[in-house]
Amino acid sequence: MSISKKCYLCGSKLADTRDHLFPSSLFNKPLPANLRTLPACTECNNALSSDEEKFRVFLASGMAYENEPGFRIWNERIRPDLKGRRPLLKPTIRSYIRKARVISESGALLGRTLVLEMDGEVINRVLRKIAKGLYYLDTGAILPENVQILVDYANGKPERFLSPPLDEAIKGAKRVDLGNGVVTYWRNTMKDDPTNSITWLMFYKDKDKLFMICTYRG
Ligand SMILES: [Zn+2]
Repeated sequence: MSISKKCYLCGSKLADTRDHLFPSSLFNKPLPANLRTLPACTECNNALSSDEEKFRVFLASGMAYENEPGFRIWNERIRPDLKGRRPLLKPTIRSYIRKARVISESGALLGRTLVLEMDGEVINRVLRKIAKGLYYLDTGAILPENVQILVDYANGKPERFLSPPLDEAIKGAKRVDLGNGVVTYWRNTMKDDPTNSITWLMFYKDKDKLFMICTYRG
């Protein structure tokens, strides 16, 4: 007997597919056993593909020579994709890479470097989806529409998320690791109302890119 379920993302259509929480493209093969899938409709499942692609390259950029999961994602997934497996990836990435001038303290032009510019809206959409997924994972229910989702990104300033009263919340948080450091998150949920939650996320062990998601009933 199969039970028809609603899509965890839109909450209205019937789920006809399974969606990975977190995006499977973040991981090297084989996918980690604790990477969960959630019931979704095809439309929602595909809606963020391009955003998730940008998000992955953004996360992995700069990590290729920092640690093993970062190195593997570049060499085993992103580089082959760029070489032709996914021809649409190249223009997508090119659209948000720009050349920046490197200026010395005295103002002299030292050269040019490539900088990845991330559209804040892309981060917003990907993290909002993750917020819904984490809630579904905790409760088996769809995040109610009147719950506010706040996302934040500490670009090179992780201490911003670790000051009081946040350090109290992180102490009681549950830590989850997927794919040996591909995704690490700390999550704290209010016992009597799981719509109130705070989650910190780190990808490829990159402490300089720390993300935070707060949900609360507005
Ligand atoms: Zn849907």
